[in-house]
Amino acid sequence: KKTLRLVLGDQLYERHSWFSDVNNEIIYVMMEMRQETDYVKHHIQKVVAFFTAMRSFSEYLKDQGHHIIYYKINDDNNQHSLTKNLQAIIKSEKIEHFEYLLPDEYRLDQQLKEFCNQIEISSESMDTEHFLTKREDIANFFKGKKQFLMENFYRQMRKDHDILMNGKDPVGEKWNFDHDNRNKYKGEVSIPEEYSYQNNVEDVLEEIKDAEIETLGEINADHFDWPINRKQALQFIRYFCRELLPYFGTYQDAMHTDEKFLFHSRLSFALNTKLIHPKELVDKVIEAWEDDSDRISLAQVEGFIRQVIGWREYMRGIYWAKMPEYEKLNFFEHKRKLPEFYWTGDTKMKCLEKSIKQSLSDAYAHHIQRLMVTGNFALLNMTDPDEVDAWYLGIYIDAIQWVEITNTRGMSQFADGGIVGSKPYLASANYMHKMSNYCSKCHYDHKKKTGKNACPFNSLYWNFYDKHREKLEKNQRISMMYRTWDKKSKEEKEELLNQANYYLDNINKL
Ligand code: FAD
Repeated sequence: KKTLRLVLGDQLYERHSWFSDVNNEIIYVMMEMRQETDYVKHHIQKVVAFFTAMRSFSEYLKDQGHHIIYYKINDDNNQHSLTKNLQAIIKSEKIEHFEYLLPDEYRLDQQLKEFCNQIEISSESMDTEHFLTKREDIANFFKGKKQFLMENFYRQMRKDHDILMNGKDPVGEKWNFDHDNRNKYKGEVSIPEEYSYQNNVEDVLEEIKDAEIETLGEINADHFDWPINRKQALQFIRYFCRELLPYFGTYQDAMHTDEKFLFHSRLSFALNTKLIHPKELVDKVIEAWEDDSDRISLAQVEGFIRQVIGWREYMRGIYWAKMPEYEKLNFFEHKRKLPEFYWTGDTKMKCLEKSIKQSLSDAYAHHIQRLMVTGNFALLNMTDPDEVDAWYLGIYIDAIQWVEITNTRGMSQFADGGIVGSKPYLASANYMHKMSNYCSKCHYDHKKKTGKNACPFNSLYWNFYDKHREKLEKNQRISMMYRTWDKKSKEEKEELLNQANYYLDNINKL
């Protein structure tokens, strides 16, 4: 049967069983579409990275002898809608059967299901063979539970896949080495020279400009530093294991004014587009540790693996368990706008300035910058989670809804009321000072709660607890905060709340 197979832009997995044989009856289709570039305003590096990686993947398929139809963004016959393009090809190529790989995004899943119901030819969907779990595994694992504890799931993953296990027990006799990790970075070890691919993406950039796609952020097109094919991603894994893994966990939560990446892997784009498989990454990390356990400790390796087989798979499972309701959740009923400086980085708060400007220049910020700086502040500002989601979904190179929304609306904004996390991630300037050197270079004083130049995080922090008392007081992990708050004098409370109100009224001037 003459078959059409759809490959989406985040399904660039060379080793998928689809591609193991060449079959003249099969046509693959890939498309760059306004449907995908316009559903949110994306960072320019994100659009460039997706198109470049897709083009590279289609060249790979061609070289293997597969028949492929590829629509570029400015091709005349491109109708920029997934279904319209598919319809046109089915007609012109006299296709008799349609196949697609299960999308990771709910909206595409729905679109393709509806499409298959409408077309007259037969159709079938298949697994992407990328994740270690199936879409429904998390929902089954936590059946009947209100809260989905990541740690329980992670341990099960370790057992199921025999990763860092000694029979039934965890290697090193502990499941979690978080305690050994999470130091402030004070320059004790030097950060290896930045890895550079020096990709030239000027042509793709030109085409995106010609198409007049609205984007945000900056790009250096003759020096594009993201892996755009499997070979580059594998090279980067080698670099990561050799240079960064030895300190990955130790400085996982650290932030520094002069260091954007510290020891983070920057592999999220390669993972999310499926250039690499999570299991092969984990295997390579374990291999590096076994070969060089003098330099690489178990704590680093376990810390990294937890992110990949724990958090990453867990977030995907939550997404499929809770969509589509999840994207409407707003536990705190927040309605405020995102401060304007999220789009420019122009603020006197050093932590936000650094984290936002870096996001605009690199389409990247590491986890703690996303969670404890921009996410924390958006929460303290009581921002509408729709606005927060749109920002995170647009700005980061790795942002695809399944992993963006669960982290943003769930983990960072607690808009799900406690499915992902057991309490909101809130912090005052104390935390920022403990984990970074931002405060020492800031216009605001991290020690001051009220008065001139008091760090806004401090009063906004207490204001948040005060405003949401009804919703949070019963939470056992938070009740202590209310005891501390209640011990404060009436005057002190009033001063803090006045200060917070002043900052909230003048949020765009901070
Ligand atoms: P590393 O620190 O080197 O970690 C290694 C890998 O572990 C990452 O590449 C990633 O695949 C995985 N990982 C780590 N933490 C998480 C997590 N919480 N959830 C899922 N996977 C994780 N990640 C995305 O891939 N896309 C997003 O759109 C995204 N949005 C986020 C929004 C917010 C508000 C927060 C707090 C986190 C978000 N994350 C997102 C998770 C995490 O911050 C990024 O995966 C990570 O910063 C990517 O950088 P890295 O590759 O250097 O990660």
